Amino acid sequence: METLNPSKPSNIGIEGEDDDGYVEYVPVKKRRAMEVQKILHRKGVKSSNPTSVDPTTSSDPTADLSSDPDRPKPPESKPSLLIKASQLKRDLPEITPTEQLVQQEIEMIEHLSDRKTLMSVRELAKGITYTEPLATGWKPPSAIRHMSPKEADTVRRQWHILVEGDDVPPPIKNFKDMRLPEPILKKLKEKGIVQPTPIQVQGLPVILSGDMIGIAFTGSGKTLVFVLPLIMVALQEEVMMPIMPGEGPFGLVVCPSRELARQTYEVVEQFLVPLKENGYPELRPLLCIGGVDMRSQLEVVKKGVHIVVATPGRLKDLLAKKKMSLDNCRYLTLDEADRLVDLGFEDDIREVFDHFKAQRQTLLFSATMPKKIQNFARSALVKAVTVNVGRAGAANLDVIQEVEYVKQEAKIVYLLECLQKTPPPVLIFCENKADVDDIHEYLLLKGVEAVAIHGGKDQEEREYAISSFKAGKKDVLVATDVASKGLDFPDIQHVINYDMPAEIENYVHRIGRTGRCGKTGIATTFINKNQSETTLLDLKHLLQEAKQRIPPVLGELNDPMEDVDAITNASGVKGCAYCGGLGHRIRDCPKLEHQKSMAIAGSRRDYFGSGGYRGEI
Ligand code: AMP
Repeated sequence: METLNPSKPSNIGIEGEDDDGYVEYVPVKKRRAMEVQKILHRKGVKSSNPTSVDPTTSSDPTADLSSDPDRPKPPESKPSLLIKASQLKRDLPEITPTEQLVQQEIEMIEHLSDRKTLMSVRELAKGITYTEPLATGWKPPSAIRHMSPKEADTVRRQWHILVEGDDVPPPIKNFKDMRLPEPILKKLKEKGIVQPTPIQVQGLPVILSGDMIGIAFTGSGKTLVFVLPLIMVALQEEVMMPIMPGEGPFGLVVCPSRELARQTYEVVEQFLVPLKENGYPELRPLLCIGGVDMRSQLEVVKKGVHIVVATPGRLKDLLAKKKMSLDNCRYLTLDEADRLVDLGFEDDIREVFDHFKAQRQTLLFSATMPKKIQNFARSALVKAVTVNVGRAGAANLDVIQEVEYVKQEAKIVYLLECLQKTPPPVLIFCENKADVDDIHEYLLLKGVEAVAIHGGKDQEEREYAISSFKAGKKDVLVATDVASKGLDFPDIQHVINYDMPAEIENYVHRIGRTGRCGKTGIATTFINKNQSETTLLDLKHLLQEAKQRIPPVLGELNDPMEDVDAITNASGVKGCAYCGGLGHRIRDCPKLEHQKSMAIAGSRRDYFGSGGYRGEI
């Protein structure tokens, strides 16, 4: 047994007595403190307190005493609550600031994402959930079917295709092996479409087999990915059980804007004509959009309709008035689902879902994948395969992006100079309608063949602008973002962003009008002090990602994301978990901010008796 240090006072008279039997008195307070230290030592907690007791050097005789096995143990005293609390805190795993940030974002996203599901009331009421996708009956040729998973992966890697899901069908590198009817193959060839694009290589076999979420940059050829299987389904159903007057449709496509719906409808129509000419059954399509006389639409419904391409408002109207039903509908595509949600169509889509009487094949296409869309997909799709041909929200790499600092007052004059960069056709975008009108007028005065489109123009003006620009009769189209989404103008040489949109997604959509299907295009963007730092940082990161030149004005920005750049957000990607912008986190998201103010404005309008936010354009 160690001897007690004689220079130190010995202790409580139980056993530590000196020869002369003198036992030093230890005050109660000190004894308690010693007890505490003992408990802490026992639990292995090292005190940082300089007064802590070291059993080898301290005057604490209990330390020594406790090492003697023969000595009776002092009665166990219970630790105070304070000690317990500090103990518990110490036992908690340490959370780094990064983990804390990610945790906060998860909570924000959970709070934001809508818990409502995309199912019909009947399915909800009866608790019907589908566990298997609707069988399509389509099978690839046996050579493709026997492709090994390794081979399939190699093809996907070559084509930069990412897939997620169970039993992903193998990619198919040519249209012939997709078993499309001969007249469709011929039509594709006629249109110069000989080689499928990446989204087609993987998306077509997936849709021909079941549900799919498609994430593809604009201009990737995604329309054909859902239109061709749609035609196949309609043909198959018509052969099995022909549509009677007043019945239909077999397939439905929902788009966020009338222009996009019209464009998709035209693609459908192109393929139906040669099919009929070659002896296939006649399939009647219907364009179901607002701003068009409903009577003409009803005429088509009366004959029996096979395929409907619609915007949510008019579709909801026809269904509610029981002019059309979805009793036979077994194929649904939500195109530009992110835009549908952004424009406030969520409830309309939910209502459309209510009209389905049976399981359907569901496809969802989106340029970006915010949490809300992921939830949509989870509730409405069955064992969906995700096909991604580029980071959701990433810019098309075939576009050369130039960013120039132009003072507000110099913009309009500089615009003319900018138009000289390339031959026509050129698209000019700006955020507000008044700017579109000003630029349009200025260009007309300068003798430029320009047309303009924005939400304030009537349907006729909008259609004229689009058709004359598409036909090459006009060189320049000036537009708000209405025209930027999903519209396919062939061979746009140059996109000029007269202003930088606050939401980076809109920028991606805008510049995606050029550089389509493998061709290279130019996008010039004017920036100045009017843009918020968040917007400019998003732009900077996007340019970096696409390996574009970063102008000094962006390079010099104070960039808080540089420190947290490597942190992936709750969805497992860098940047904002809500809009996908790389220059900010969700708490600074301009899109979220905008939507919150729209929601507040909407609820106020409702309060005063008007219809709330109505987004259809
Ligand atoms: P989308 O992304 O569907 O709007 O298509 C953009 C444009 O690409 C349309 O004009 C299509 O006709 C065209 N396109 C689609 N698929 C192909 C392809 N495989 N090869 C060449 N052009 C295509």
